[in-house]
Amino acid sequence: MTVSIRPEAYRKSERLARAIPGAGRPTTMGARPGGSRSSPTLHQRKSGVNEKTLARLLAPHPRVRVIRPGGPDPAGSCVVYWMQRAQRGVDNPALNMAIAVGNAAGLPVIAVFGLTADYPGAQRRHYRFLVEGLADAGADLARRGVSLIVRLGSPADIVPAFADEVRAAFVVGDENPVRVGMLWRQRIARDLRVPFHLVDADVVVPSSLFPNEEYAARTIRPKIHRVLDEFLRPLPEVSARHPWPEAALLRGEAIDADGLMARLRVGGAAEVPGYVGGTREALRRLRRFARERLDRYARDRNEPTPYTTSELSAHLHFGHISPVTIALLARESDAPEEDVAAILEELIVRRELSVNFVARNPNYDRLAACPAWALKTLADHAGDPRPVRYSARQLEEAETHDPLWNAAQKEVLLTGRMHNYLRMYWAKKILEWSPDAESAFEVALDLNDRYEMDGRDPNGYAGVAWAIGGKHDRPWPERPIFGTVRFMSYESTRKKFDSAAYIARVREIERGGPPQGSVE
Ligand SMILES: Cc1cc2nc3c(=O)[nH]c(=O)nc-3n(C[C@H](O)[C@H](O)[C@H](O)COP(=O)(O)OP(=O)(O)OC[C@H]3O[C@@H](n4cnc5c(N)ncnc54)[C@H](O)[C@@H]3O)c2cc1C
Repeated sequence: MTVSIRPEAYRKSERLARAIPGAGRPTTMGARPGGSRSSPTLHQRKSGVNEKTLARLLAPHPRVRVIRPGGPDPAGSCVVYWMQRAQRGVDNPALNMAIAVGNAAGLPVIAVFGLTADYPGAQRRHYRFLVEGLADAGADLARRGVSLIVRLGSPADIVPAFADEVRAAFVVGDENPVRVGMLWRQRIARDLRVPFHLVDADVVVPSSLFPNEEYAARTIRPKIHRVLDEFLRPLPEVSARHPWPEAALLRGEAIDADGLMARLRVGGAAEVPGYVGGTREALRRLRRFARERLDRYARDRNEPTPYTTSELSAHLHFGHISPVTIALLARESDAPEEDVAAILEELIVRRELSVNFVARNPNYDRLAACPAWALKTLADHAGDPRPVRYSARQLEEAETHDPLWNAAQKEVLLTGRMHNYLRMYWAKKILEWSPDAESAFEVALDLNDRYEMDGRDPNGYAGVAWAIGGKHDRPWPERPIFGTVRFMSYESTRKKFDSAAYIARVREIERGGPPQGSVE
């Protein structure tokens, strides 16, 4: 595969986007009656349109997928930013594009979020985390002159109807490679009547540069490093120059976490008090990571008591923070080189390998997505005796003979998190204790997605596929049940870190002690 470097057109448009003035607060105007209908169309504003800038902003760029082609509709009144995966108002290239296009077209920008109670697999704990994040996103968008309208329902229905209602000239969205995300985008593109562009806002290196499924970290790593300096750069913070006070008259839910939870009425895995969503909390965690953990990340990141990692995966999953923000902070810190390299490896190489897996492999949530060598060896060992077997219910309730495994499962039930090293062990044991690899895959993914706050993420699909189906791994010495899929034993795992301290810590949490991760 050849990795294209950033086209010249992009360099120009990026310079222009940075140069666009108007980073200050929007001027205020009194609200006019008539709501959205009173905003002039692009046609009426023609004198304020900067055609040259617009053309450059719309030039091909590896971070942008044009799903409905064209520039702003002259009959339109505003640019709509459909916020879905990148749920934030800072360091957000999708929002930046919406604002830059609005400014160049002389149009206001408005953001819409479709909040559905039916997101596949999402539980009460995930919804609480998400709605907490909306408050920060709303405040940051407002600071940049963009109102956020939250409506209840599937984005596939909300976005085209909203675009019609506000007479959108142009719609910008973010990317999301999971199945439901792709289906929403296709349906919205089908039902919109104006151009629709998608911006790959939650990866450092745009996924379009990796059009085929990568085999392993070793195949994607050199490709990422070759272009990293092109993409790992501070993101401009441009504000909308054409305020639209009438946006306040549009129907929308109050962006209040308790109120939204009451309206959603979702059940499932309980909320996790103290595990707080949103950009403010993400930045607090990032500062803590930089201050207290980064300079020993390479050495201690496998130690779960206490954690030495960033604990930012759920915030990354919900788009409350950009990976660019984290990577730049690490790169610009005075932490030892090996620590910076280690976090960039996880945050960019491993994370973007997972995105590539989900984006390019339609079976990403099934054992069938795993490599042929692993499927064959697992099939060859399908008939091996399985002396220890647990049902899905026994696993869920942490009723195994293995105190380390039970502690890991209890930690996730109670706190919505499990340390990376334990996740590997946890999933491999599910393979060992299940009737076959397919059902092990299903159970591991189900528990991961229901209880982990960062569940239903490309990293989760890749993590389970790695542990159970050898994805992104290589064959290891052969043994029962696993064949040549890598095995992890209790003995080897407990030697890697202080497992007794870990088990004791989880016992403390069970008794009501504080979980890891809360940030003062
Ligand atoms: C069986 C299994 C299931 C997993 N399920 C999930 C999941 O549902 N959601 C999820 O985000 N991660 C999952 N992971 C990957 C990893 O365990 C978590 O991303 C990590 O533990 C999050 O902690 P942190 O934010 O403190 O990570 P840090 O060590 O601080 O790393 C920073 C970021 O890099 C990324 N990252 C770190 N480790 C990995 C990795 N091994 N693969 C890909 N990206 C990584 C994450 O986005 C993480 O937030 C899973 C791993 C396994 C083995």
